Amino acid sequence: MRLFSKKSIGLLLAAVMVLSVVVSSYIPAAEAAAPARNVILLIGDGMGYGQMTLGRIMKDSALTMDGFTFNGTASTYPNDPVEKWVTDSAAAGTALATGVKTYNAAISVDVNKKPVKTILEYAQENGKATGLVTTTRITHATPAVFASHNADRDAENEIAVDMLNHKVDVLLGGGKRYFVTKDQGGKREDGRDLITEAKNMGYTFVETRDDMNKVTGGKLLGLFKSSHASYDIDRDAAKEPSLAEMTKKAIDILSKDKEGFFLMVEGGRIDHASHGHDAATVAKDVIAFDDAVKVALDFAKSRNDTLVIVTADHETGGLSIGGYGQYNFKPEVLKAQKNSIEDVIASKFTADNYKDIFAQYFGITDLTPYEQVAMLDAFKAQKTDSYAVSNTVADIISKRAFAGWTSGGHTGTDVPVMAYGPNASDFARHMDNTDINRLMMKAFGFSR
Ligand SMILES: [Zn+2]
Repeated sequence: MRLFSKKSIGLLLAAVMVLSVVVSSYIPAAEAAAPARNVILLIGDGMGYGQMTLGRIMKDSALTMDGFTFNGTASTYPNDPVEKWVTDSAAAGTALATGVKTYNAAISVDVNKKPVKTILEYAQENGKATGLVTTTRITHATPAVFASHNADRDAENEIAVDMLNHKVDVLLGGGKRYFVTKDQGGKREDGRDLITEAKNMGYTFVETRDDMNKVTGGKLLGLFKSSHASYDIDRDAAKEPSLAEMTKKAIDILSKDKEGFFLMVEGGRIDHASHGHDAATVAKDVIAFDDAVKVALDFAKSRNDTLVIVTADHETGGLSIGGYGQYNFKPEVLKAQKNSIEDVIASKFTADNYKDIFAQYFGITDLTPYEQVAMLDAFKAQKTDSYAVSNTVADIISKRAFAGWTSGGHTGTDVPVMAYGPNASDFARHMDNTDINRLMMKAFGFSR
């Protein structure tokens, strides 16, 4: 018996041809998603999985970051002859900004110290508005890599000039000291007053939350602190804007541009608190970063042309939930802390009053004899080691909370990647940090 007649074979072939046309036209359509008009890149500096878990536990609810459909992971290693597997923020930021791996301390220059074009510069060439928002000094590594080129991240006076010359539309963060002269209380040795220069270039300059909120358009330079912005746990909310408020203002202004915009938002001090093993302060800065993610995501969800990427440049501290061999974690210890360890120590701590201060600011009223001896030793050691007291306080609190730390520096573990919007599915895989730049460029439809 013949299985198929000539006629049925013909029909079958026709059906296969129709199906293959449908399939082949479907796949290219999915790959050729419309370019993103806007890209918002949010970077949690030092925010590994431990920091995210800590933020979620301390918030007592899901983070906005938990809700992304497209999730990936990224490797972060630099191209550094000595520090091969562990990046700093400059090399990692350069990878995100340019797609090129470089040595630690490089600000968007390659291993030969040659400038490499950043995605912000491509966005400007394509007529888009641009913005940089951070809780660090605006001249610090992560914002700097998008709008300056320098062989050395510490050259912040030079970086400030370069960033201003880049004419970024919105610059919000800390770091006023690199914009004013020594006479004005700043760090500039060339006598230049970059704030006056910025005003002459058409920028509105603001230093407070209220003044920032009054600005509705044009170029905006906001420098809210001489150095870094406050940790969120220490922030005076009446004077200093939150990261979410700065993000909202930047989006309001940049979204007026008809060609679209590129915005980078950095939760920059998750890293600093993680260097200091100050888990309560890390948690508050993660939650503040997550609030900024929500602002970006709400904007993107109100339209269909905005790609939102959330990632980290690296992990800091090797933070673990549970430590010291304990199968436990005690967020209640961290929730009793009222200010950052750095803030408490800077203004209030002495060998005479430390027990009262522990009770008042850290909620700890039962320091053990061992902990008391450790504190008294630390006050003596402070004369030669400026971190002795803060390290001891952090150690006492972390051990009580079972928050584990493996390093005072960065670690080379993978970091989270999340995406929403046009081309977001590209990010749902393991990738290298340079791929994040490549995929953002692709989403914008830019070619190098
Ligand atoms: Zn760091």
